[in-house]
Amino acid sequence: MSRDTSRDGGFIAPGATLGVLGGGQLGRMFAQAAQSAGYGVAVLEADEAAPAAQVTGIHLAARYDDAQALEQLARDCAAVTVEFENIPAASMQWLAAHVPLAPAPTALALCQDRVQEKALFQRLGVPCAPHAVLTAGRDPKAIDADLFPAILKTARLGYDGKGQRTVAHAADLPAAWAALGGVDCVLEKKLDLAFELSVVMARGRDGSTVQFAPQQNLHRDGILFASFAPGPAITPELAEAAQIAASTVAHGLDYVGVLCVEFFVLRDGRLLANEIAPRPHNSGHHTIDSSTVSQFELQWRTLVNAPLPVPRQHSASVMLNLLGDLWFDAQGRQREPDWAAVLAQPGAHLHLYGKHAPRQGRKMGHLTCTAATAAEARQVALQLCSLLGLEPFHAELP
Ligand code: ATP
Ligand code: MG
Repeated sequence: MSRDTSRDGGFIAPGATLGVLGGGQLGRMFAQAAQSAGYGVAVLEADEAAPAAQVTGIHLAARYDDAQALEQLARDCAAVTVEFENIPAASMQWLAAHVPLAPAPTALALCQDRVQEKALFQRLGVPCAPHAVLTAGRDPKAIDADLFPAILKTARLGYDGKGQRTVAHAADLPAAWAALGGVDCVLEKKLDLAFELSVVMARGRDGSTVQFAPQQNLHRDGILFASFAPGPAITPELAEAAQIAASTVAHGLDYVGVLCVEFFVLRDGRLLANEIAPRPHNSGHHTIDSSTVSQFELQWRTLVNAPLPVPRQHSASVMLNLLGDLWFDAQGRQREPDWAAVLAQPGAHLHLYGKHAPRQGRKMGHLTCTAATAAEARQVALQLCSLLGLEPFHAELP
């Protein structure tokens, strides 16, 4: 039976089951947050051993387009969300017709596609990187020469810098596009970044919003390495501009749920939107340990139509991602990081996602270092870097 869920807005009390599509670490932390308030959680995820499948009461081990599994999710759950943007549009549309679902299929579809995302930024007047759209039939030789050197990104299915190629000169573009399979792409000017920041926020069904302060993000090899909250280079003016832009995006999408907008700050001081994540974000993980309400609590609150409390950050923090690389020594032999030493460090909060197979670049967990001041939190993080054999980061901070 199909029903109109657009008007759903009643409070869903603890005891109900909430559904999540996707079983990675974001689904796991969503489940843990919702469970701590007394909700049951069901996860739809094909992988039996996935991080979220280990902690949820109901695990539907099936693909995202499995009709039976979607039916069961709609039957068992009072509301459903996603932890991953690449859910098939047809599954989202079916669910939206049968169970309260947030974010909406249209918002998710837009965030799956860099071409649509850039068009949204332009429509809303949110500055973004100079770019060109490459779709079938477009002559790559006719691209504006000013865009080079550039980064070619597939319009869909990229993450952690995957699906990207640097293109130094216009002449290299046809080969780079062919190497990405000739699929729809966005060619972005390679920008002179001073640093990156992101804003995590939540928007309820009634249109109310709350935001965390922006965090400063440091990437290595296209993967988030650390997030600093507060960020040493984020001025009050930049923070305000980023928060206004993120709100503009959330309202412009009529978004319901938690979202993150990633930004670039250029050396000339300009703030440009990079992309939108329609879900909690890696750069917001610190909120679990640093703030009165976490991004995952805001996610379940938007789902159950509970009030959204304004987050207050009670501790300065530095979040370090724990990539699979840490599980290998210099000779490539597998080893376990020295958790006892990590746990002996005051202010270190360890989060491991229950992934059994470490691989280079795979996100296995994160560490949040909290302290009374940003400088102290950075000291704790630097000590942990040295303990774990990670390159210190102070030289990379502007
Ligand atoms: P993630 O999943 O980590 O968000 P992603 O695969 O979606 O990554 P982007 O966010 O587009 O990809 O790019 C990853 C990183 O590469 C950025 O955070 C930034 O450090 C760098 N980068 C991307 N685009 C540009 C650009 N136009 N100029 C300079 N650096 C860029
Ligand atoms: Mg990104």
